[in-house]
Amino acid sequence: MKHWIYSRWGEGLRATGAFLRDVIWPEGAICRGCGKISDGTPLCPGCRERLQRENSLSFWTETTLAPGLTAWSLRAHEALPRQLVLSLKYRGEACLAREIARLIQPLPAFLTFSSETVVTWVTMPRGRLRVRGIDHGRLLAEAVAEELGLPCRRLLDRRDDRSRAQARLNEARRLQNLKGAFAPAEPIRFPVLLVDDVLTTGTTARRCAEALRQGGGTEITVLTFTRAVSRDPGS
Ligand SMILES: [Zn+2]
Repeated sequence: MKHWIYSRWGEGLRATGAFLRDVIWPEGAICRGCGKISDGTPLCPGCRERLQRENSLSFWTETTLAPGLTAWSLRAHEALPRQLVLSLKYRGEACLAREIARLIQPLPAFLTFSSETVVTWVTMPRGRLRVRGIDHGRLLAEAVAEELGLPCRRLLDRRDDRSRAQARLNEARRLQNLKGAFAPAEPIRFPVLLVDDVLTTGTTARRCAEALRQGGGTEITVLTFTRAVSRDPGS
C-alpha cells in the first residue's frame, strides 16, 4: 500500500504518509529488533542491551579517508543497526535518532571530546529535504550532542541543490558529484565532531572535512553509527 501511494502520487506525500502511519501505528509501540510490544521506545530493553553489548565488538576507525581525518564507526552496516539507519533515513522515523544516539554510549574510553567541541551534521540539499520530510542527519547530530553534553549547530552550507542520491553513484562519481557542495557557515575555531548515520565510501565525510578545514578547522572527527563493510554504494 505504501509503495503504491509513493509511486503513484510521488514522494512528496512521504511526510504525510509517515504522519498518518504514526496516528494508526504509533512509533515505538513495536520493537524494531524482535517485533514485540515495546515500552514506547523503538527498541525493547532486551534488544537495546544486546545492541549495546555488541558495540564493543564492532567499532573501527577509518584513517585513509584524507590526511589527518579520522572516522569512527560503531557497528557494521548490517542486520538491526542497518535497519535502524534505513528506517530513520527513508521512512522518516524521527524517534530513531534518539534511540541511535543512546546506542553510541558508552564510547570507547580513548574517544573523548573537549568541551569546546561543536557537533554538526552533513547539511542536506534542500530538494532532498522536501522529499524526505525530515533532516535525519540533523536529528541524529542533535541527539548525539545531547548525549555527549556538547553544543550542536549547522557548520556547513550546502551549495548544490541536487537531490540526486549519492547512494546510487560509485566512489569516483560521488566525489565529483559533491565537489564544491559544502562551504563553512562560519569561521571554525574549535574542534568539530561530524555525526552521520552511515559511512559508506567516506566521500561525503571527506568533502565536509575539506570545507571545515577551509573555514579554519584543524581538529575534525567523524563519528557514524554504522559502516558499510563491503563499501557497497547501494546500501
Ligand atoms: Zn526487542
